[in-house]
Amino acid sequence: LAVNIALKLDRRTLASAQLFADAQRVIPGGVNSTARATWSGWEPYPIFVASGHGAHVVDVDGNDYVDYLLGLGPMILGHRPAKVTRAVVRQIEEVGTVFALPAAAEAELARKIVAAVPSVEMVRLSNTGTEAVLYATRLARAFTGRRRIVRFEGMYHGFSDAVYWSKHPDLASAGPDEQPVPVAQGPGLPKGVEDNLLILPWNDVEALREAIRVHGHEIAAVLTEPMMCNTGCILPRPGYLEAMRELTAAAGILLIFDEVITGFRLGLAGAQGVFGITPDLSVFAKGLGGGFPVAAVGGRRDVMALVSDGTVSLAGTYTANGIAVAAANATLDELAVPGAYDRLYETSDRLRHGLAEIFARSGLPAHVVGLGPVFQVWFADGPIHSYRDAERRADQAMFRRWWLGMIERGVLFHPGAYENLFVSFAHTKADIDVTLAIAAEVVARLR
Ligand code: PLP
Repeated sequence: LAVNIALKLDRRTLASAQLFADAQRVIPGGVNSTARATWSGWEPYPIFVASGHGAHVVDVDGNDYVDYLLGLGPMILGHRPAKVTRAVVRQIEEVGTVFALPAAAEAELARKIVAAVPSVEMVRLSNTGTEAVLYATRLARAFTGRRRIVRFEGMYHGFSDAVYWSKHPDLASAGPDEQPVPVAQGPGLPKGVEDNLLILPWNDVEALREAIRVHGHEIAAVLTEPMMCNTGCILPRPGYLEAMRELTAAAGILLIFDEVITGFRLGLAGAQGVFGITPDLSVFAKGLGGGFPVAAVGGRRDVMALVSDGTVSLAGTYTANGIAVAAANATLDELAVPGAYDRLYETSDRLRHGLAEIFARSGLPAHVVGLGPVFQVWFADGPIHSYRDAERRADQAMFRRWWLGMIERGVLFHPGAYENLFVSFAHTKADIDVTLAIAAEVVARLR
């Protein structure tokens, strides 16, 4: 069956196949990020984009898709959002882009972020989530004088050498369940940096308690996504984030929320607003820029103050460049419109609940898991609570059949079962209803 579906995909996407073959001659893997590569699920080749508009993407063969990939998150307002585009064009045509001088618009943006996220008292910008995580961990180490960072199996915090460990390790080399060992994402990461990490299973209070009991004096920070978006949207067990907050505070360890995906997406105050937890530092990126590269690290004034006098150096030629700041200011204005997130949740819930109903009627062991505009479909015989749980129990082959069925009928999302579906402010009820009709057809053929 998989072969048949792949062939059908071939006939509709011949121009993509050709462009991919051409690109591979000059671009390793034919793409510019791992998440777009064949080995990340885009077998036999990724579709090549012609353009995007609102909640839709058109590929180079002219196929139109309802888009739930949304650039893996940033296109929260949909593609080419008018006000953001206008702000960026104005910046380019009337102001300029890079000066190595501060501009008033930077503090305007910082004030908006501080107003939106109660735990953020001061904030610094960067270009990507990877950089912002690097800034956050450096700040935590400088503030505490400790060297180790707790990070959890199944999470992704960017591709820097210091944290690109144990994202999705092969369980054969990842150590026992209760005491995982660091596994490099691949060759090229310098041996030894992993000594500065402590790898733990997520959603396990006792594992965290024990790690802090034994190693607390050398732990600078616990770094976590508040919801495990990088393993297909695993939700925190009730009380887990609260326990994490208490245990870290009691041991003088900083709690860093990596809200690169959840920030400005689950709400103006991100996942911390939804779950009611106050981290010490937070990292934001995708939701902040409406599709332009901008990220931020912010949090407690006493920690951020280390940057004030140059004690901790956070640099970057392009940080807070005019385009990024104009885009983020315009994006945050759109997100702050009263009722905006209510509408986003209404659309998202229509989709998630509709899918859940379709799967329930089908009798397939499938679950729609996530919150509002970020979710994933799990093919498993019960809830998944951790990365190892997912590796052992999720039916990846079934997910692939589901994905192929959807994409060949015009619904786009990432082929990886550990990625997410995203809903934007541009999705309409009509988009959702078309998606649900297609899903019903695909699910009927999955049995
Ligand atoms: N943190 C999380 C939770 C992410 O999902 C990502 C990217 O997907 C990053 C950090 C890295 O962000 P960037 O790709 O902007 O470097």
